[in-house]
Order: sequence, then C-alpha cells, then structure tokens
Amino acid sequence: MRSAAIDNKRRHLLKALTAASTVAALSRPSWGQLGPGSGLGKADLIVTGGTFHTMDVTTSNAEAMAVRGNRILAVGAIADIEALAGPGTRRIDARGLTVTPGFIDAHSHPLLANEAISVDVNVRQISKVQALLKEQARRTPPGQWVLAHMYDDTKFEEGRPLTLQDIDAVVPSQPVMVRHRGGHTAVVNSKAFSIAGITKDTPDPEGGRFFREDGELTGKVAELAMDIFDDVGEWPAVDRETNRKGASLMTRRMAAAGLTSTTDAAGDLEGWISYMDALDAGELYTRVAFMPRGNTPVYEAMKATGMRSGFGNSMLRVGAVKYAADGSASERTMRMSTPFEGTDDYGILTMSQEQIDAAVDEAVANDFRIGIHANGDVTIDMVLKAYERVLQNWDGANPRFRIEHCSLVNPGLLTRIKATGSIPTPFYTYAYYHGNKWVDYGPEKMRSMFAHRSFIDAGIMVAPASDFTPGPYEPMMALQSMVTRQDSQGRAWGENQRITAAEAMAVCTVNGAYASFEEHDKGTLTPGKLADFVLLARDPLKSDPNAIKDIPIVATYLDGQAVFEA
Ligand SMILES: [Zn+2]
Repeated sequence: MRSAAIDNKRRHLLKALTAASTVAALSRPSWGQLGPGSGLGKADLIVTGGTFHTMDVTTSNAEAMAVRGNRILAVGAIADIEALAGPGTRRIDARGLTVTPGFIDAHSHPLLANEAISVDVNVRQISKVQALLKEQARRTPPGQWVLAHMYDDTKFEEGRPLTLQDIDAVVPSQPVMVRHRGGHTAVVNSKAFSIAGITKDTPDPEGGRFFREDGELTGKVAELAMDIFDDVGEWPAVDRETNRKGASLMTRRMAAAGLTSTTDAAGDLEGWISYMDALDAGELYTRVAFMPRGNTPVYEAMKATGMRSGFGNSMLRVGAVKYAADGSASERTMRMSTPFEGTDDYGILTMSQEQIDAAVDEAVANDFRIGIHANGDVTIDMVLKAYERVLQNWDGANPRFRIEHCSLVNPGLLTRIKATGSIPTPFYTYAYYHGNKWVDYGPEKMRSMFAHRSFIDAGIMVAPASDFTPGPYEPMMALQSMVTRQDSQGRAWGENQRITAAEAMAVCTVNGAYASFEEHDKGTLTPGKLADFVLLARDPLKSDPNAIKDIPIVATYLDGQAVFEA
C-alpha cells in the first residue's frame, strides 16, 4: 500500500512531467546523441549492479544506467556511468536483480472490468457465481440491470457452463447479464429475455446468436445478439469520478505486473475522459495508447476536430481506430474456413467485405491508423484484401496496418502479412491460461494459432497482446506461455510455435513500441529513450521455462520514477 504522501508527490511530479513531455514533443531534441561526455550535466538517477537486458544490441553489455529527467542519459560500463554521478544523484542498487525495459501491452481493455457497477465472477464454482449475483442484485436498485463480468465458461469445477436456470434460481425478478471475460458472449436470465421480447422462436439477428438446446434458450447470447439488450431496461449509470478511479486502479495493477505501457483497444468517449482525468490527477500509472472504437461518438468527435493517430503526449496518445470483423477465440465464435472440432459451426462474421473496405478508406482519409479484429483465417483474408487494395496506390511509409489477434494463420496469409507490413497482435497468455478452450479447436488448428514462431520466422513484427479482460495481462505469464506453449495442466498446444525467452522478451518490448510507432521513445534501454524499466527478482532468460510466470516484479519505473515497489 502506498502512503498518501507518496501519492501526493507523484501527483505533482506527473503534472510537471506532463507539461515537460508536451514541450518535448513540440521541439524534440536529438536525444539519441546524448550520452557520457556530452557535457549536459549530471544524472538524477543511477542504476548499478544486476543483469541488464537492454534489448538493444548497441548496449548489450551494459553494467549500469544513468537517467536524467524522464529519459535515459547513458547506458554502459560502470566507470562511464559513475562519472555522471553528482551530489544529488539518486541510486538504485539492483544487485541480484534483472533490469529490463518496461513491458508493453499492445492490445488490452483496461476499463472493461468496471467494478463500480458490475461484480467480478472469476470464480471456480457455479454456486459461487450464484452467491455473487444474489449479492449484486441486493445492491442494485429494483428494475436495474444486475451486471457481472469475468465469467469463464470453461473453468468451473462442475465441468459445465452457467445457464439461464442457474441465474433464474437466484435472481428471478431483475434482468441479469453475466458477461464472459472474452467480451463476445454473455449469459442472461429469463427476465432479460422477456423485457427484450425474445422467445425461443425469435430468429437469430444478423451477426449474432441466441444459443438453444432442444429448441429452448440456454441463456447464452453471442456477438451482435448482445446489443439487443442495450436498448431495454434501465442500465446502471457511472459517474465521471468513478470512471477516473477505474482508470487509476487498473493502470496501477498493470504497473505492478511490470507493464509501463498499455493500449485500450476499443476505447469509448467515457474511457477517453477517464484516462485524461486520471492523468490530470497524477494517477495514471502506465502510458496508454487509446484506440477509439469505430462508429462511436469518440471516433466521430476526434475526426470532427481533426485529431488523428499519434496525437497526445507520451502518457496518453491516440492510436489506431479499432473495428471488429469476427467473433472470439476464447469464446469459440471466430470465423474459420474449417469448423470447430466435431461440429458444423464455422463461427461468426460481424463485418462484410464492403464494411471493412469502407472502414479502412475512412481511417486513411482521416489520418487514422487502423486495427481490425480478425481471429479466423477467413476474416484475416478479408482484412488483408482491404489493406492490399489501399496499399496499391500508397507512396508513403509503411502505415503499419494492424490485424488484431490474427489468431489462425496459414502460409499464404503469412506471406501477405509480411508483404503488406501489417502488424499481428496474437494473444500472448492464451496457450498457458485458456488450455481448456483449445480442445474445441483441436491439435491441428493449434499448430497455426497464436503463431509467434511463424510470425518471427517470416520477419513479421508480431506485437504483444493480452486482450485483457479476455486474457491475463501479466508479462511474466506471457513470456512463459509463448516459450512453453503449455497450459496450467501441462498440456502442450501447438509446440511448433514455441519461441525462445529472448524472442519473447523482444516481442513484449521492442515489437510493442514498433506497433504504436514509438520505437524512438521506448522498447529498449537506449540513451534518449523514456526511462521506463522494471526490476525482476530473477532472469527470465535463465529461469526454468515453467517458472517464468512466478518471477516476482520487484519494482516498476515510469519516467525514472517508481510507480510500483514490492
Ligand atoms: Zn480486444
């Protein structure tokens, strides 16, 4: 727990830094030329001892690092760094620890877990979910929706998913929506169906599904079928202060896991305001790349005011606009050319080729980068077609079009991803965390899913992505998942896609910076870059691969200041 005094100090500091980084962005000095002997003054902070993984070949034998202001001043031999020490220089003795660049998450949804209006049901028994729902219903004014999040259908000891009957048994008279942590499905109760006028005879909407068993509704609803409930009943409102606290709380948790940069990969207007408010209060604990969701008020407002990708400062920056063209990997709704194991279900498309093309054209016309969610091979092909069409007449630099998730690939798709310079963002903790779900895909498909090995071998800048809440965001779990491809029960999923710990480190740092066009500012411990770094209790490169996820984070530094200390 941090003291109020430290919080206060950090608030003032961050305000100062926010102002400073705005100025720096206007007249960016050539930071890359700074280093020992530049005569520009003493270091504010020196880090010595420990093992440095700078992730930069030019500083790979570093013994120490100096920081001035919020930037790395020098990295190198101990004698050269010590020469930069002055009377006011702070010191970190990292003896026995490993020093790495701050970790980056290129695709996450930090605000999806809104504990102010919804209860976290990430538990292992259906009876516990029922108890939590009953309690949440008691706290919710009569008539309002009772909401829950972080539901995971494959992790119950009962060995079955939650049903409408389970919810009806504890909350019969208020509408209930239990959102899956994947964000693409939910389970609702009978009251929810009745206020929406949906019966077992209601046809599925375009791009969505009401799941049925023996003709009866099971309560599970997927994709665009979830949207129907948005317009019925009374939804709990959240005030601005609560949203600000949510942004603060989640970025603080992420910093404690070693992240110094995250990405909101489907931002809405309230989210944008929440991050701005948290930053202004000095309580934003990681940098945030904000990807406005397409067809939303925040994207329309940004376009109307001429805002575009890249606008902002080093703490909060506008990223690519985000669209979703198919279903989910973890909830088994993504659109594939072959069906899920033992079914004739090929998954769900949520955009047509025409809609994808139009979204890309509009983004380009408004100077927005774009990232389109495409999990299945069918959808990835459609997104690549749209990118290839635009790139035919492109004479600028690589726009680094993003393919969000890009889960199931094949050699033809890999060739086209490389040729278009596109950035895939496959799930980095899924092989480890979601093992039970890969049964539905089968071993053969898993050889081509979350294909980190294939992307690296093809020379593609594969980006690090948790997709929290669907996936855990902890970078140490990510490293282990990509290195071992084993789930928590020791089952291997697509071992051919294993990468080395060093490669996994590069994905989570260097490639993360590249994905948001910020490689000049972060991703490596290099003079001139932002002083974002992490102290680890053990070296991931020398650890037992099956124990990487348990490596304790000792401290996380943002702009050279501790945002987390164990
Ligand atoms: Zn996502």
